[in-house]
Amino acid sequence: MGRRKLGLELNRPGRNLGDPDISIPVAKDLLKVKGVPIREPEVSYYSREFPLESFSLTESASAEWAEKERRKVSPEISELYSDYQERILPWVDKLADISRRSPLCTPDGSDISDAVRDKARELGYGEVGFVRFDKRYIYSSRRPTVRQDLPSAICLAIEQDYVKTQNIPGISAEEAQGDAYLKQAELSIKLAEYLLQSGYSAQISGPVWHFGPVIPMFVQAGLGQLGVNGQLLSPHFGSRARLQVVITDAPLTYDSPVDYGIYKLCETCQICFMRCPGKAIQAQRVWFRGVEKNKLISRRCRPVMTRFAGCGVCIKVCPVQKYGMAPVMEHYLETGEVLGKGSDNLEAFELEGKGYYPSGKVPSFDREFFDMPEGTQEDLVLEELKNELSDSGHLAPIQKEEIWERFRQGVEAGVNKKRRIIDMGMDIDL
Ligand code: SF4
Ligand code: SF4
Repeated sequence: MGRRKLGLELNRPGRNLGDPDISIPVAKDLLKVKGVPIREPEVSYYSREFPLESFSLTESASAEWAEKERRKVSPEISELYSDYQERILPWVDKLADISRRSPLCTPDGSDISDAVRDKARELGYGEVGFVRFDKRYIYSSRRPTVRQDLPSAICLAIEQDYVKTQNIPGISAEEAQGDAYLKQAELSIKLAEYLLQSGYSAQISGPVWHFGPVIPMFVQAGLGQLGVNGQLLSPHFGSRARLQVVITDAPLTYDSPVDYGIYKLCETCQICFMRCPGKAIQAQRVWFRGVEKNKLISRRCRPVMTRFAGCGVCIKVCPVQKYGMAPVMEHYLETGEVLGKGSDNLEAFELEGKGYYPSGKVPSFDREFFDMPEGTQEDLVLEELKNELSDSGHLAPIQKEEIWERFRQGVEAGVNKKRRIIDMGMDIDL
């Protein structure tokens, strides 16, 4: 270990509008790649041949399972989610309505990047960047709804409350997440109205309805890099940043990816991988749809999230989240070590009803703990129908009718789910 050579000094805007710029010193041995390693032709190929689809649609069976299980094992969290859904639902139509509104004046066509950035920061966004709207990341079911005439994306991050986030996993951290989403809804409408008043159109992705994954565009905009935990590690908030995108036809100057040293820091750190209670983060990076990343195994994550307040240990134990990127990078430059690694201050967590886990200790679960249905709810009820019918030769006609009735109710329940938000903040299907 010991002091490292300085590779580059990055200057980024301060945390709040009006704060002085911050400086992030990146050690030379942490420099590797601007943004993430990416194979553009592969991203295009997968987008064309195997378009992305929303997890809320492809894994609706496990979402249904999670809702029931949560009501059983964690009624307080279940109630919190219901309350959040009631509060966020009125925003859903307002957010969708913006994309149908016409600009309120004729613009002069000049670049308005600085004005938009200042407006977003003034509203309360902590990170703001501009990129070409990358349509390769639109979910296939959303393609008819997403406006194709808006070529640019404004990437916007707000901070989830710091203190409450450190209580992950727990109800106050979940409250903080819900509060951040509600704030996003309000702020993005104000920003979209500003664009309309400036003579341009806007469509909002997040906090409930998403056109697709947005982290790739945030990385492209230089607002952070992808961590092993699958989250954007942003300079001020690390993985505590809540992300949103507004697409527009306003003339904007695009930003570019930055090497903050996260790719290499993660290789040395690995804390989220080691601390994940579900062992849901893959150890090695793999190439997936043209991007090199650590894959998350959802069937090992969701059962933990469902039973332990949305889990999120991988957010909490990340030093960039806990201490901020500049202190983490300064510490590495001075010592060659990851700030907080091995300490309870960073790594300890508690799973309610299961135990307290200081650094070096992790919980274990039976194999059955991870049993949950996979795929869509519709596929699941069809599978159940087939199983019941295949074994129904001896049943009376009335009993067979009951099987069909259960099937009908199952399909209807799936259809009626369409305007329900899944978990806290996951995608709603309009
Ligand atoms: S949410 Fe929990 S279980 Fe899921 S990846 Fe993160 S730490 Fe692991
Ligand atoms: S905990 Fe460590 S390995 Fe995981 S994302 Fe954060 S810096 Fe990277």
